Amino acid sequence: MRFMVGPMDQSYADESYEVVVVGGGAAGLSGAVALARSRRQVLVVDAGEPRNAPATHVHNFLTRDGTPPSQIYAAGRDEVARYGGHVETGRVTALSRDGDRFRVQIGDRAVAARRLLIATGLRDELPAVPGLAARWGIDVLHCPYCHGWEVRDQRVGILATGPAAMHQALLFRQLTQDVTVLQHTAPDLAGEQREQLAALGIAVIEGTVAEVEADSGGLAGVRLADGRRVALEALIVAPRATARAELLAPLGLTPAEVQLGGHVMGTRIEADATGATGVPGVWVAGNVADIQAQVITSAAAGLMAGAAINADLVMEDAQRAADAHRHQPPHGEQAWDDRYRSQPEIWGGAPNAVLAAEVPDLPPGTAFDAGAGEGGDACWLAARGWKVTASDISSVALERAAARARQLGLDITWLHADLARVPAPGTYDLVTSHFLHLPAADRKTVFRHLADAVAPGGTLLVVGHEPGDMPRPELAEMGWTAAELAAELGQGWTVQVAEARKRQATGPAGKGITIHDAVLRARRA
Ligand SMILES: Cc1cc2nc3c(=O)[nH]c(=O)nc-3n(C[C@H](O)[C@H](O)[C@H](O)COP(=O)(O)OP(=O)(O)OC[C@H]3O[C@@H](n4cnc5c(N)ncnc54)[C@H](O)[C@@H]3O)c2cc1C
Repeated sequence: MRFMVGPMDQSYADESYEVVVVGGGAAGLSGAVALARSRRQVLVVDAGEPRNAPATHVHNFLTRDGTPPSQIYAAGRDEVARYGGHVETGRVTALSRDGDRFRVQIGDRAVAARRLLIATGLRDELPAVPGLAARWGIDVLHCPYCHGWEVRDQRVGILATGPAAMHQALLFRQLTQDVTVLQHTAPDLAGEQREQLAALGIAVIEGTVAEVEADSGGLAGVRLADGRRVALEALIVAPRATARAELLAPLGLTPAEVQLGGHVMGTRIEADATGATGVPGVWVAGNVADIQAQVITSAAAGLMAGAAINADLVMEDAQRAADAHRHQPPHGEQAWDDRYRSQPEIWGGAPNAVLAAEVPDLPPGTAFDAGAGEGGDACWLAARGWKVTASDISSVALERAAARARQLGLDITWLHADLARVPAPGTYDLVTSHFLHLPAADRKTVFRHLADAVAPGGTLLVVGHEPGDMPRPELAEMGWTAAELAAELGQGWTVQVAEARKRQATGPAGKGITIHDAVLRARRA
């Protein structure tokens, strides 16, 4: 399933996934299955060149022993698709970060992803001996667990290019008694190593191998630079295993060397046990992270990474939901009661700044305070001689407000009412409301009720947040401008103030910020 995302540049805005998996071998497909089964929108992009493509069969994969590699990958693709994941044949040509997402270039198209699973495998860089590459994966081999059983009891040569040769000689000696080490370009063997090889009947032939020879029956053997020939049925090599990780450099990830006895065996992208790299949002699995990984362990690493990515997305989504919930202004009686119950005091007792600035020039009379909350404004007015009626939708807030008034010895009439449903009772010399944020339809009704409650000659003072100051864009409709409200007043009013008034406040990160109060002050004729 493809889905639309927010305001990104149109060239790739219309195709976005939660996870893009680069590479669809055992690691990538296994990670994708875990993600698709977790109902993640996942895309696997695979160039279709798995490392073991030259081999006819896969071994040491429990329950799949002897299966051709292509069959395993086809079945893996089907499994991803069965759970709603997408697999496509193609090559990812570039990766870059774009805010909290990644831009994934696939030829001339780009898609967006929240997370990346890189499972691009490795490149086997074979020793540069003529004739060798043509036999790779057939009878030029590297791994006793992949093909050792298949060459048991055969004449096996070890092409020594580094310290791995000794290791390979001993491992293949477990499978056949006919093992020969071809010294080729490797440093001299230590005395202790020669002793072990001799004791096991492993011959060591000095000299460089000039050519790998084959005939219609397969590998014939090797020809040394000095012309000698060694007949062999299998030749074991230790290719340099280079992580296919060039794509990751722009994201800040470069491969580290993997060494054995001071000899560079290959490179890998370093990651923790789940495949998480040092770059947030980027996971690796399989041979790109571990040059020793087999098909089944690559699949296992893919599963680990897929599960870790899913968990990471779950945590991020939970945090986003909590943030949204926190910033969502409550709406309705129950929501406001819950909000007030969640803290012993929310607003503090100080009057709103605009009220304190605008009211002192008015002679005290009757006042109606809509959305009185914990009573700070109502008490402030009452203390200045106003005869106050204060309303709120929340009885929890009103109990607190009444307690505050009692403590201050103030006589205020408290009214539990939803002004979107019922008008204010009577008329008043001052009708005031501060930061009453409602969906647009309710706001119009409440505002009409407030305007109707102003006595002739009385003052309406309404203060709110400008739409641009609302904490999240989708809440902007709960903000309003003073000009909008002034336009709704109609005939019989003198607008005294209709402005966006700057005020210093503390932002979410504890930093000082400037916000804008929408201030409407109007006098009724
Ligand atoms: C000759 C040979 C025989 C082997 N036999 C066995 C065996 O019998 N049993 C066993 O367990 N192991 C065997 N292995 C090892 C096995 O091949 C690896 O363990 C395994 O392939 C690693 O899986 P992977 O998913 O990490 O990488 P790969 O299988 O190499 O898959 C990586 C995929 O990523 C794709 N890719 C790379 N770059 C991009 C890109 N930019 N955009 C899109 N796609 C990309 C590649 O085309 C490839 O399809 C053998 C290896 C060799 C060389």
